[in-house]
Amino acid sequence: MIVRASIIVTGKHQRALYGGAVFISHGTIIDAGPASAIIRRFPGKKIVQFPGAVLMPGLVNVHAHLELPFLRNSIRANSFSGWVLNLIQAKKGLKQSDYVLSSKDNINALMQTGTTTVGEICTHGTSPILLKKSGLRTVVFDEIIRMEDREGKSSDFKVQSQGLRQSSLLQHGLSPHTPYTVSEKVLREVAAMAAKKDLKLAVHVAESKDEIRLLQRKKNGLEKLYQFAHWDLSLAPKGTSSFEYLNRIGFISPRLLAVHAVQVTDHDIILMKRAKVSVAHCPRSNKELGVGKMPLKKFLDAGITVGLGTDSLASVPTLNMWDEMRYAYKIHHRDGVSAEDIFRIATIGGAKALGWDKEIGALEPGRKADIIAVPLPKKNTGDLYSDLLRETKSCIMTMVNGKIVYQK
Ligand SMILES: [Zn+2]
Repeated sequence: MIVRASIIVTGKHQRALYGGAVFISHGTIIDAGPASAIIRRFPGKKIVQFPGAVLMPGLVNVHAHLELPFLRNSIRANSFSGWVLNLIQAKKGLKQSDYVLSSKDNINALMQTGTTTVGEICTHGTSPILLKKSGLRTVVFDEIIRMEDREGKSSDFKVQSQGLRQSSLLQHGLSPHTPYTVSEKVLREVAAMAAKKDLKLAVHVAESKDEIRLLQRKKNGLEKLYQFAHWDLSLAPKGTSSFEYLNRIGFISPRLLAVHAVQVTDHDIILMKRAKVSVAHCPRSNKELGVGKMPLKKFLDAGITVGLGTDSLASVPTLNMWDEMRYAYKIHHRDGVSAEDIFRIATIGGAKALGWDKEIGALEPGRKADIIAVPLPKKNTGDLYSDLLRETKSCIMTMVNGKIVYQK
């Protein structure tokens, strides 16, 4: 199949090519270039046209909780720990059927807005099978919340998505929730299990100032969570920073996708860079929870892999990556982050963060055909990336592995 459009964004360097096309066979991009040359090179092939559209790599949402319904407005709090406790309370009113419904709606929202790959934190066991059915590319991270001071068995970990086989479209991972909701002993076990089974790890880390204050044994709001959950405060992590703590217990490695990473010191950035840790940036969630601004420019300058994630509807109004990209550009462009940088972290950066950098993230021969078509921006300022960021709300077509999973 040949897919052509007014503009294609092609290659590792995301070059905009007017009147371009890609030739796809068995889910893989075989060639990309000027439409006339592609049509000549592959005569007689079916041609799908998207006039008035930009063809670009599918968006990678590296961090979501698709099982959660829209709770943001009802659980708002004036502190991070207040929000966490409100979320626990709100979830008491939810049934398994609510999680099924939310998973379905949220998967649809991803497809309609051009997300082709998602890093999903699975807590209730409803999203993996629906993601598999949807045809989206997924890393399912099974969530672990366990504050115990005992040696467990790896088999104790409830891997919700275990029933589903790994494939080129579905990979398994583990998500110890945070350094303060999973004990050191369990974190060490999880790291060992991940190394043995070659799994990615996603951890909400260095998110709030409360987390750092807890580590430093200063007064902090998270003590309320420990009281509520009847956890022993002596099991809480200790250290000068979250990354220093994770490094000390041997949890830092290239497997780690550090979600949020807002409260970081320059030394943390050195540790992360050395260990090849990737970062999931969730700027709208950070804003909602009042945790501050993540130092994106510092991470990019240090050469740390950064992907973009929406997080859940418990902290953001939509799961639309274009909204996330727009907001990221808004808060970081004064630091020297360009629209093209944002575009890159939302595509190739996210692909790398999830361990799929050779397969997806760019439209070039040899990569999987994860492609979206979005409307050509009405205004042409000469910077296609900022024009796309300003105008794009949803997409015309979403293709994963050469298969169209959504078309307007
Ligand atoms: Zn999250």
